[in-house]
Amino acid sequence: MDLTKVRNFGISAHIDSGKTTLSERILFYSGRIHKIEEVKGGGDGATMDHMELEKERGITITSAATHLEWNDPAFPGDENHMHIMNLIDTPGHVDFTIEVERSLRVLDGAVLVLCAVGGVQSQSMTVDRQMKRYHIPRIAFINKMDRTGARPLAILDDLRSKLNANPVLIQYPMGGGETFAGVIDMVTQKAFFFDGPKGEVVREEAIPAEYEAPVKEWRHKMLEALAMYSDELMEILLSEQEPPIQLVYDTIKKATQQQGMTPVMVGSAYKNKGVQLLLDAIVRYLPSPLERDLTAKKWDNPTETMGLKPDPNAPFVGMAFKIVEDPFGQLTFLRIYQGTIKKGEFYYNQRTQKKDRFSQIVKMHANKREVVDGAEAGDIVAITGIDCASGDTYASENKYCSLESMFVPEPVIKVA
Ligand code: GDP
Repeated sequence: MDLTKVRNFGISAHIDSGKTTLSERILFYSGRIHKIEEVKGGGDGATMDHMELEKERGITITSAATHLEWNDPAFPGDENHMHIMNLIDTPGHVDFTIEVERSLRVLDGAVLVLCAVGGVQSQSMTVDRQMKRYHIPRIAFINKMDRTGARPLAILDDLRSKLNANPVLIQYPMGGGETFAGVIDMVTQKAFFFDGPKGEVVREEAIPAEYEAPVKEWRHKMLEALAMYSDELMEILLSEQEPPIQLVYDTIKKATQQQGMTPVMVGSAYKNKGVQLLLDAIVRYLPSPLERDLTAKKWDNPTETMGLKPDPNAPFVGMAFKIVEDPFGQLTFLRIYQGTIKKGEFYYNQRTQKKDRFSQIVKMHANKREVVDGAEAGDIVAITGIDCASGDTYASENKYCSLESMFVPEPVIKVA
């Protein structure tokens, strides 16, 4: 498995901002590419409701972690550039609970969904604070751009004042409310129009004349903010040259990882607008498991710490972060931090000090469960038939202390 192409991410939102709708749309687009030809069927985006989605793909978002695929937009249709994404369900409780904390631990990045009218609300603040504690890089998605009263630019102020964030607009919206037509990607300076039968991106054009002036202004703000994170970019801007696109992408990613800034996208999940571009942004700007550097306390000397390497050849260490009762028995969702697991092998539960057999390993897709022979560091799988508790640590050797301690001290983000 190429870990650079893995993204373990979650979606957080204040209730009613559209987290469920966005999750469903993400699963719907999974494995597809931008082009309209790829999307079967017609109909109006506004009428594609939950039931229709369910019918179309048998989508379920009830899984604690759903495995999906997304093609790198730079290489449409090329299997070698397929990204594996695990969408992890992060409970949206206002309360600080161990359950919420556990689900946050397994994320490498997150999307903060905000309503284009409501902006930053109480729950967004609580969840964002928790994510900050776990050093989870975040991108913001301003949803419901089709609503009357959508005020995306004012929400940037909200992000600044209420979340103490440094929001940087990456997409400039074309219109708002009923006239919301698309976005201008300020990195590539291309306009994307969402006028497919289901709202997909169908046209990629030059920036329309009426948007040239605001895009110039906002693009300048974006590049100025980014220059703080790259001397190379700073020099290019000082010499008044056009920076290479890849350098801008890399700098956005670096600044996001350092939590120096929050890239902001806009769209309307309900109308399928901007969802594919958000998936592209997850691939471009959120880190892979290789870019997360995690530390656990040593079992025999808790005052000492040890790093966990996302290396398939290292001894296996993983954490059971969620347990679900299923018609087939207990499903234990496991994030593998280090090493490899194989079907039928025994692994130590570090709490009970007993060995358990991983008799079946499954990957949960939106519409099916896939039985696999093994899984590696960086991945998230479900194990059937083991009797353990949420938060338990499994390892190939009986010597690690619980990964519940993994984030004490807090994880350090590795920055290239
Ligand atoms: P959650 O509570 O954050 O999971 O929000 P839901 O996904 O359940 O959405 C809450 C309500 O907002 C539902 O009635 C959705 O149909 C609606 N909604 C979601 N996305 C959009 C959008 O982009 N535009 C509009 N107008 N409504 C939306």
